[in-house]
Amino acid sequence: MSEENKKLDSLKEKLFYTQKHASEKISDDETKKADEFCDGYIGFLRKAKTEREATEYFVEKAEKLGFKPFVRGEKYKCGDKVYLNNRGKAVILCVMGKEPIENGIRLSAAHIDSPRLDLKPNPLYEDNELAYFKTHYYGGIKKYQWTAMPLSLHGVIVKKDGSKVKVNIGEDDGDPMFVVTDLLPHLAAEQMKRTLSDGIRGEELNILIGSRPFSKDEGSEKVKLNIISILNEKYGVTESDFLSAELEAVPALKAVDIGFDRSMIGAYGHDDRVCAYPAAEAVFSVTEPRYTAVAILTDKEETGSDGNTGLNSSYFKYFVSDLADCFGANYHTVLSNTKCLSADVNAAFDPSFPDVSEKMNASYLNHGVVITKYTGARGKGGTSDASAEYMGKIRALLDENDIVWQTGELGKVDAGGGGTVAMYLANLDIDVVDLGVPVLSMHAPFEVVSKLDVYMAYRAFKVFAEGK
Ligand code: MN
Ligand code: MN
Repeated sequence: MSEENKKLDSLKEKLFYTQKHASEKISDDETKKADEFCDGYIGFLRKAKTEREATEYFVEKAEKLGFKPFVRGEKYKCGDKVYLNNRGKAVILCVMGKEPIENGIRLSAAHIDSPRLDLKPNPLYEDNELAYFKTHYYGGIKKYQWTAMPLSLHGVIVKKDGSKVKVNIGEDDGDPMFVVTDLLPHLAAEQMKRTLSDGIRGEELNILIGSRPFSKDEGSEKVKLNIISILNEKYGVTESDFLSAELEAVPALKAVDIGFDRSMIGAYGHDDRVCAYPAAEAVFSVTEPRYTAVAILTDKEETGSDGNTGLNSSYFKYFVSDLADCFGANYHTVLSNTKCLSADVNAAFDPSFPDVSEKMNASYLNHGVVITKYTGARGKGGTSDASAEYMGKIRALLDENDIVWQTGELGKVDAGGGGTVAMYLANLDIDVVDLGVPVLSMHAPFEVVSKLDVYMAYRAFKVFAEGK
């Protein structure tokens, strides 16, 4: 290479923005640490497939680490650890910092609900001697992906006397599973003419749950009777108890390594447990952070954050208000000085579907944690567009700590779009930007992430929680 070319190359190196595979930037030792961290993440994925199970997991772990339920009016000091369990479906983890609370919180906010099939309030029926549950899907799904795949059932049934039955069937070896059936190709000529979005319709997402009659006696609905009598024997419930239940059908698939090189993880519900787990682990890892470090693991993001366990409700605001009271501080000041990472996933560039991405601004698997300045749709509608100033702070923080990161946009302009909880926090006068893990097949029953990206997300949430 001529001297002149060398000069040009070094000038490009200095002036151009380029993104590289994380492996080019990190040591073998760090790759090993990433793999180890992800073993923990896979263990979590196998235990916690729903918002209730994730809340239970985080609360249990928090208690083991010395976190105590948050008490209004209590006097707290630096290093004290508290949690707030919101109705068993969302949780706030908090470690008190050195700086006065008025100087704000370092907040990571992820969601622990994922797209799934919810049972309808009155779900059980028999049709042609087969028993089914009727469902209403939750969140954005491609309905055709949810047929002909083993499903498990998670949730709770609340009986008339107020007692609660926990349900988790289809995850353990030997458990029965459930399935939504689909037409055989031989007879699907008419169905195949439907569009992909209409290929399976909402009212066709009926889950097969039984086929044997209760007895040999004459009579109708004997298969249904058999199912409800099994449920009555096992849980003490009758059909009307479904009216006060939350039962969620999710893929009965275990989180596993993907690829000959084991570089990726395939699982149901990476969105957004792949950010919730590292964000929680980051807060678990700090002891006396500079600023009070908080992780919110919230519910209802996939349906727009409404509802009292979602971030469009006031539960986080009330927590901050109560926390400010504990220190005799003004709560508006606490919120206004709070900095937030909205911990959510981005769509990784998929080489099989390049047309929906704009390559210069897409995120890529293995290029590290993604900063997403804005999401939204139709000209940045429905998003909080992070300020240049805040973007500047976060990119400096990541660079100073050798965290591999990239920028990302959710698809081409006008290709579609989406949202995160960022705007609900921004609306509280908090500086916020989306930061998370790129995902392939997002919202499918089985999503894929890279282990290096998951680890970089953890490192990012950790330096942020430490108040660096
Ligand atoms: Mn998400
Ligand atoms: Mn989502």
